[in-house]
Amino acid sequence: MNVDKIIKLNNKYGICSKCGNKYIGNGQGGIYNDEYKFVRWCKCGFKVTVFEDGKEITERTNISQLDKKVNEDETLRDFIKTSHKEFYETELTDEYIDSLDEIKLSILVDYLDDLWLK
Ligand SMILES: [Zn+2]
Repeated sequence: MNVDKIIKLNNKYGICSKCGNKYIGNGQGGIYNDEYKFVRWCKCGFKVTVFEDGKEITERTNISQLDKKVNEDETLRDFIKTSHKEFYETELTDEYIDSLDEIKLSILVDYLDDLWLK
């Protein structure tokens, strides 16, 4: 995707059109682009993907669920990080976790859940 397009998309989506959040990183959301697409997501769950041909997909992600408690003392995000560290000895970054869409996130959580049961 060329720089002009990316700048336009950054201007259009830099501020979340759902909740007005302008921050990225630290669990706030993020922006990603490569030669095929531009993706902007936000902690509120808003996510838009714009393809090179101009096609846009807006979706709701599970991101807002990530920081909700799943039990007494951990959030879903904590669970993912703790489990990944336990089994792979590396910690996933917030950026990585936030970049996952709902489907990838549920696959990851199911997978980690399975590992605990073994
Ligand atoms: Zn938002």
